[in-house]
Amino acid sequence: MKTLTKIRTETEQLARLDQAHVWHPFTQMRDWLRREPLVITSGRGAILRDARGRNYLDANSSIWTNLHGHRQPQMDAAIRRQLRKISHCSALGLANEPASLLASKLVGAANSISEETRPRKNRKAQGPASARRLEKVFFSDDGSTAVEVALKLAYEFARRARGLKHPHFLSLQGAYHGDTVGAASLGHIDLFHKAWAGLRFKSDAVMAPYCYRCPFNRARPERADAREYRKCRWECVRAVEEKLYGAAAKRRSYAAMVVEPLIQGAAGMIPQPHGWLRRVAEIVRGNGAQLIADEVMTAFGRAGQASRLADLGDAPRARRDAWPTFACAHEGVVPDFLAVAKGLTGGYLPMAATLTTQEVFDAFLGEYEEFKTFFHGHSYTGNPLGASAALASLEILQSPGSLRSRELLEQTLREELKSLWALPQIGDVRQVGLIAGVELVRDWSPRAPFELRERAGIRVCEAMAARGVLTRPIGNVVVLMPPYCTTPAQARRMVGALHESVEEVFGTTAR
Ligand code: PMP
Repeated sequence: MKTLTKIRTETEQLARLDQAHVWHPFTQMRDWLRREPLVITSGRGAILRDARGRNYLDANSSIWTNLHGHRQPQMDAAIRRQLRKISHCSALGLANEPASLLASKLVGAANSISEETRPRKNRKAQGPASARRLEKVFFSDDGSTAVEVALKLAYEFARRARGLKHPHFLSLQGAYHGDTVGAASLGHIDLFHKAWAGLRFKSDAVMAPYCYRCPFNRARPERADAREYRKCRWECVRAVEEKLYGAAAKRRSYAAMVVEPLIQGAAGMIPQPHGWLRRVAEIVRGNGAQLIADEVMTAFGRAGQASRLADLGDAPRARRDAWPTFACAHEGVVPDFLAVAKGLTGGYLPMAATLTTQEVFDAFLGEYEEFKTFFHGHSYTGNPLGASAALASLEILQSPGSLRSRELLEQTLREELKSLWALPQIGDVRQVGLIAGVELVRDWSPRAPFELRERAGIRVCEAMAARGVLTRPIGNVVVLMPPYCTTPAQARRMVGALHESVEEVFGTTAR
């Protein structure tokens, strides 16, 4: 047994090394250097343990990556098995077993559910099913590179197949698709992207369906998810239509529109009203552009059970008890590109994939000297260790145990989150499956926002950390996105900590 003094000395040493040398992402390092960081040394299930032996609930799944919990026995075993064979070999000129198996599983998951949930009445407009199948998988390392691959492929496809001289891209206001210069060019968050304006290529933004703060929503604020009581005429969909067709009239054609299906993450957990994705996909198709679905956050069951989303009269025929692997399938949409990362390996290893159609693949075929090759790749493309983790994760995802715990967790979150409405600083509570965003406001009834410099989200998350619950805010939005193994009691503790922290930080109590 280590003595308390030894633990303290070791922790202080690790913290000192970090503060001396590590530059942390998206972090004001002056603030970071002011206090000793949490040094995480181990984890199990939904719990993270720090060097001082304190336990925390991992309420954002280690920045939206972890699916089945930490040290999940099947995941650990699969990686150990692969370690005994080989950890890495190049995909440049070589195939490997786990990457081939994984590609076929991803294609299977993308097509089986999407066929099942394709809205029958729109199948014709969507074109023949064969044209809408995702057949090919390009592996890379993380969310940014998965989007970057889709971007380059869509650009080149538009030039080759559609003869566009200068293909443009459209994405949503507030969009975030990664930090590499290409992916950042598709982003529209001033705070993150303005500094690199000179480096980024220009892409267009169109209105995002942010019901809670939508200028077209005529409904007065209520104590419910703004999507449910909104009063509008789908002006957000019309905006997409006008943008795409207006641009075509000016000969500024789009190669593709990029969206996060069902919910925009880093934009502030902004969910789309039911039916938005399907309508937008049809408009994009009708315009001849391609659809890039960035499912870096939403894939692998995160978007929850289909029944929650299939209750509109004209909604797609998603099987009510289905757990689609990909969020697009909730609305029967099959994109031309599907970018996944984060949860692909269950949150164990950095690996990403971009799925696309045979049609796109074919546009890159030719004789060697025609140089139609897709000249792009990374050293760790198709990494066998990552692929074996991903295979294990997909298997767990389909297991009855995982389906049961996800259902229970989704319901528990739905029930528990209701308690937050009693607090005047809760403006909007939005949940899509196993993702929840809680928007803090100065006062709910006029939807009065906090200014960013008041650090409302940061202060609430600090108070939650003091209660043993770790998450990160996005501006004034507190995110809860627990691992799927989170028990109902743990989920209750997460929401309870948020409730108490809002009360503590703003000095109010529930009304
Ligand atoms: N797309 C989306 C929707 C994301 O949420 C993120 C990361 N938060 C990315 C792309 C970039 O992923 P990564 O950080 O793995 O590069």
